[in-house]
Amino acid sequence: MRPYRFTPGPSELYFTAERHAMDAFREGVPSLSHRSKAFEGIYAEAAEGVRALLGAPRDWHVVFTSSATEIWERLLQNCVERQSFHLVNGAFSRRFFAFAGELGLEGHKAEVPFGEGFDLGAVDVPQDAELLAVTQNETSAGAWFPTEDIAELRKRYPDTLIAVDAVSSVPHPQFDFSQFDSLYFSVQKGMGLPAGLGVWLFNERLADKAEKKLASGRSVGTYHSVPSLLAKAAKHQTPCTPNVLGLYLLGKVANDMLDAGLERLRAETEQKAAFVYGFYERAAWLQPLVKEARHRSKTVLVADVLGGVSSQQVVEALQAKGLTIGRGYGAYKPKQIRIANFPTHSKERMFQLLDYMEALAWEGVSG
Ligand SMILES: *Cc1c(COP(=O)(O)O)cnc(C)c1O
Repeated sequence: MRPYRFTPGPSELYFTAERHAMDAFREGVPSLSHRSKAFEGIYAEAAEGVRALLGAPRDWHVVFTSSATEIWERLLQNCVERQSFHLVNGAFSRRFFAFAGELGLEGHKAEVPFGEGFDLGAVDVPQDAELLAVTQNETSAGAWFPTEDIAELRKRYPDTLIAVDAVSSVPHPQFDFSQFDSLYFSVQKGMGLPAGLGVWLFNERLADKAEKKLASGRSVGTYHSVPSLLAKAAKHQTPCTPNVLGLYLLGKVANDMLDAGLERLRAETEQKAAFVYGFYERAAWLQPLVKEARHRSKTVLVADVLGGVSSQQVVEALQAKGLTIGRGYGAYKPKQIRIANFPTHSKERMFQLLDYMEALAWEGVSG
């Protein structure tokens, strides 16, 4: 039997995804023309499903790319003529920052040590930064950027476009869309869908900035520039042949999550996170990486593995029980574990995982 995945991404699929995929094949969705009426219906259902799930205003745009990584590049190409600023709290936010330099732009950053959150009192963003990049859930460290802190940034820097990476937290946080200009995610994490689709929401102010950059004679990219994405989105179409199956599944699963009830999904996520962090604190061979509660991720739960135990031993012991958890990110791989806490991870499954972990015993480690 294949293992059940608690990895942060790709993660276990949402439990309805497979049934919808079978329907899609039966209906011929994977070979549908992206210039057909039927495709426009699929696009509209995906965009409206996402809008409803996140509570995005009607006048926000919803467009699709191949990944969240692509959206990093598109944000820089479309919104920055000279300077971007990045709040770096781990590997994903650092990679976005690096893209600025690679595109010949001036990227600046404020950085915290791995596993820590930002004290906004110590963050100073230059007033002429055009884009401020916030990683709301830094998947490498399990570090959370509280939504109230996004509001604080908005108050301090009203003229700067704020872009929020919510790749591994959607659909959990309740966002206030008046506090930022863009939010984006990819679907293989909290949404529990097959990889290969990025979802990009932004407001008119961001679209205006791209138009302005274009009008000044500069490049904003080619097929996936904001103006070309919007020209096609107006007809519920895409500039290139998209991941039609992925869009179909996104619309269906977004609606399934709405039917399950967001309040309930959120309450369960909080509850499961509290249980797992409680275990990390209790077990002699583990400790939560993020010390401050308000900076602890609700959806990617990271722990240091102590007492001479390696993450590989933990992963292998759980693998034998049919459960796969994540190891640390990059250099932290040997000494950390990461457990995803997404809507598809039911309380029953999470308790089963904790029971197995509770029963693990290591030579020389007591408790
Ligand atoms: C996974 C991840 C990305 C990249 O997503 P892709 O779909 O691989 O492009 C970006 N940001 C964060 C926080 C992530 O967890």
